[in-house]
Amino acid sequence: MRLILLGAPGAGKGTQAQHLKDTAKSSLIVMGDILREAIAKKTPIGLEAEKYVHKGALVPDKVVIEIATSRIDAKDCLENGFILDGFPRTCEQAQALDKKLLAQKKKLDRVIYYSISDEIAMERICGRLTCTKCKAIYHIVSSPPKKTGICDTCGSELGHRKDDSPEVIRERLKNYHHETEPLLQYYKKQNILLEIDAKCSEDVILKDTLKKLNLA
Ligand code: AMP
Repeated sequence: MRLILLGAPGAGKGTQAQHLKDTAKSSLIVMGDILREAIAKKTPIGLEAEKYVHKGALVPDKVVIEIATSRIDAKDCLENGFILDGFPRTCEQAQALDKKLLAQKKKLDRVIYYSISDEIAMERICGRLTCTKCKAIYHIVSSPPKKTGICDTCGSELGHRKDDSPEVIRERLKNYHHETEPLLQYYKKQNILLEIDAKCSEDVILKDTLKKLNLA
């Protein structure tokens, strides 16, 4: 399957992507994780991306398009399909993806839009904890780890993302409305957009997603 997960920061795309990748048997591509890894390793792309990520701005299209399109050309994605979390985020990125898929003679199956209000998004992100190793996601109130500060899955330390501060989140939400929301119309026109109410619990959202994808 070739899927895109769309939605504001905090809509739960990352959490759902982790669940979906096994059921859909597709490769998971998380643009934010790729960029954070490049930043941690101080690669040339990381050094460039860091300037934008830490203030909640979008990394230039040219950089992320190159990352995403070369990843999609990899053998695992060609064979198993992919789930894209965090890409595309602008019309230029969406057009570049379409162009790449056209060259591969492949098509997107679905674009899932997780809808959520800014208030809930803000609440969720402020309480979000992420595993520093396996990237599992927790929330201090709604889904805390069994042991404080430790990942249930791999036992590594949990941390707060640097860009999960209220000031940076406001910027990320602003960019989302401005740059990414127009993609809803873009994919609606292609007749592949599915909307899911993302204010419910993780389990309910997953059930709804699987049902709408005919995977339940
Ligand atoms: P995320 O983990 O998806 O919230 O992404 C974290 C940050 O990485 C964003 O706030 C952007 O600075 C950057 N980023 C991730 N994906 C993209 C993209 N497709 N285009 C531009 N910047 C991106």
